[in-house]
Amino acid sequence: MRNLLNFRPASAPTAFAAIAAAAAVVAGIAAPVASITTAAPAAAPAGVKLVAGDNETALSAVRVDGADVKFQGLTVRIPAAGEGVQAAAESTSGELSITVSRSADGSVVVKTDKHEHAGSTAGPVEQHSAQAAAASTARAAAAKTCTDSAYALSGWKLPSFKWYYNPAGAPAAVRASAPAAISAATTSLTRACGQKAIKLAPSYGGATTAGVQVGAAGNCTGNDGRNVIGWRAGSGRWLGMTCTYFKTINGRKTVTGTDTALNTQYKFFTSAKSCSGAYDLQSVVLHERGHSLGLNHVSQASHASAVMTPALAPCSVGKRSLGLGDYRGLAATYGTR
Ligand SMILES: [Zn+2]
Ligand SMILES: [Zn+2]
Repeated sequence: MRNLLNFRPASAPTAFAAIAAAAAVVAGIAAPVASITTAAPAAAPAGVKLVAGDNETALSAVRVDGADVKFQGLTVRIPAAGEGVQAAAESTSGELSITVSRSADGSVVVKTDKHEHAGSTAGPVEQHSAQAAAASTARAAAAKTCTDSAYALSGWKLPSFKWYYNPAGAPAAVRASAPAAISAATTSLTRACGQKAIKLAPSYGGATTAGVQVGAAGNCTGNDGRNVIGWRAGSGRWLGMTCTYFKTINGRKTVTGTDTALNTQYKFFTSAKSCSGAYDLQSVVLHERGHSLGLNHVSQASHASAVMTPALAPCSVGKRSLGLGDYRGLAATYGTR
């Protein structure tokens, strides 16, 4: 079987088994979870019990602060039972992601999303120091774009992707060209490597003044149910940060809202003609769209040609289209036509 995630089950209390199973997605098949339909507000649970969602999650790096969970400068509000939220970035170097979900008994399951790495060969879990491997080496692997089939799934599906663009705060260098670049990235989610089109039809809802619900630190600040992409004068090493909210509906993790912030602390370009230390807007958006639609990271060191590696190199335009693994992950989730 190809694309098996190299996920080692951790010993853990039964209470989190269902959500942990849902988080651990193997070859695109999400484990069944109980249907939870409660829409209770996310009140701060007393005596929150944190549970590691996988064996790579170090709870020692995670802390509860009132109604929030904090990790590496990221803050996410603890969701209601049966719901969850992921903050996932594309960075200038290294991993920057966390997923927090809440099980029916109130346990809070945390994955610090060191990436689940997929691949056709089963091997030991890579050292995470390897993930810090310079993104600049990624281009050397470009030849593998259409042969490396590795992907990792978060386990959710976005039933219909209608998105909006909030132009507030757009950097002057890309103010005029950003809408077309964002559209191009979103459109390129359906095709890769000469394969059949993925059954996805994102639609652009137009410009909006609705806020991008991602804070300056890349934290997730709420969900108005509208999928907005826009700009934020961010802190931290993230280029793009996506907050995706999900809920278990009829046994399936379903996205209820996903917002992406682009960090104006960094320079972006849409045409690479005279790039100096800037990042390709289209590549960043494609990666963040991957998170919204259900892709998690794959290892930078092992799968450098994939769009879903955690980091992007400056001045690179090599990730404007999906790699085979990125495509396979979306095809497994949405099907093809
Ligand atoms: Zn990412
Ligand atoms: Zn790993």
